Amino acid sequence: MSFGTRPFAALGASALREGLLDGQFSAREAAEACLARIGRYDGGVGSFLEVTPEMALRAADEVDEKVAMRRFEELGPLAGVPVAFKDNMNLAGAHTTCGSRVLAGHVARETAVCVQRVLDAGAIPIGKLNMDEFAFGSSTETSAFGRTCNPWDLERVPGGSSGGSAAAVAAGFVPIALGSDAGGSIRQPACLCGVVGVKPTYGLVSRQGVEAFAESLDQVGPFTRCVEDAALAIDVLAGRWSAGAWQTELSRAVRDDVRGMRVGMVPSFMDVAGLSGEMREAVLRAADALALQGASLREVEIPGAQVAMDAYRVLGPCRAFENLACFDLARYGVEDAQKLPLAVGAEARRRIVLGGYLLSTDEGARYRSAAKEVCRRIVDDYKHAFGSVDVILAPVTPRAAFRFGEITDPTEMHLSDMFTVSVNLAGNTAMSMPMGLGSQTGLPVGVQIIAAAGGEREMLRAAAALERAIGGPSVAPLFSA
Ligand code: GLN
Repeated sequence: MSFGTRPFAALGASALREGLLDGQFSAREAAEACLARIGRYDGGVGSFLEVTPEMALRAADEVDEKVAMRRFEELGPLAGVPVAFKDNMNLAGAHTTCGSRVLAGHVARETAVCVQRVLDAGAIPIGKLNMDEFAFGSSTETSAFGRTCNPWDLERVPGGSSGGSAAAVAAGFVPIALGSDAGGSIRQPACLCGVVGVKPTYGLVSRQGVEAFAESLDQVGPFTRCVEDAALAIDVLAGRWSAGAWQTELSRAVRDDVRGMRVGMVPSFMDVAGLSGEMREAVLRAADALALQGASLREVEIPGAQVAMDAYRVLGPCRAFENLACFDLARYGVEDAQKLPLAVGAEARRRIVLGGYLLSTDEGARYRSAAKEVCRRIVDDYKHAFGSVDVILAPVTPRAAFRFGEITDPTEMHLSDMFTVSVNLAGNTAMSMPMGLGSQTGLPVGVQIIAAAGGEREMLRAAAALERAIGGPSVAPLFSA
């Protein structure tokens, strides 16, 4: 068996497919190579909470059977592609813990719609990925099952809450991982780990079978190492693909150039105190690269984004409080419900207490109605901006990956989301696109590309143009062998 001139770790979906169809390797061999890499290296990264070799090999054999019988018209666009899932997504027969001790030992009986869609498209289920407890956090340090390290520097966080998903892709364990984003949990870790991470338009991907943090904000999306794979994954997640066709509408659209594209810049985002020089430079470099390829730049403003964090910190905990109420512990592992306050970690406790207060007091009601008003304003602000531009470039997060334990103040940790939450409040789509390594830290930096609801096509076109200009994301050097 040979994976061509490139190591298995570097292969994306299209290279895997070509290899499979050319008979260079079988889906079983690719799955075995993937499992072997995880066995060998994930001890140092800690991205997986559970690996599912039996499921993986069974799925791989099914793909190989179709290839052997030359039933290519039955293969989906992700045939033979190893994929792993954030641990808040149900995969029947595997654990779903949401990174919480409360759910330790809980085995899912059903498969989430998003996971099933990926499997129906031929993907190989590799396992479940670490995350901040109940998706509360920006560093994956709040998982009850230990930390995940950033593959670019094992002393640093991968970001969160989908830190396991970002790290698994950055370490070359899987070409595609799924994460969820209620306030930045796909985009921020993607940026810190130097991979592509997309939060699709609100509602594009079913949330059924994904443990909820905040239904009005949550959105499932992919982490990948190239824009084409992200495009494929989004279409698969949205159910927009047909068997026998390797490309989808979005994966074809990324080949179009950006001539004439109107690109917005938000001056007030660029002036935020706390935005590091190298993250600022990444946005400016992206703007230059798009302008060089024929896009036009103009300034727009999203005034409501200034108070987006305040609204998010009211609405998020309210939904979280209601959602966590369903874990009456008797059914999920810990017998004694009295243990709840101790069973969950400090960040989850803070949100439960805050949500309870906001939902049960008059003062809370005033905060909630103010927060809803902010959402309406932000929706209008984005609508207005997208009247004159096709995409907006913005920072993803203020700074590159920080060290474990470096940020202990919860308020400071929440600032990681300052550039991402307004997008969830508005229901738009946005992504993090790697922009190489920062001039200050030498760690991955990225740019956020924001588009209107349903604007994935324009967004991915801009991302692909950056990929052509800057060079795509790569596997972290420590793991590139
Ligand atoms: N970091 C954010 C938070 O702590 C985002 C979480 C998310 O998107 N799930 O709430």
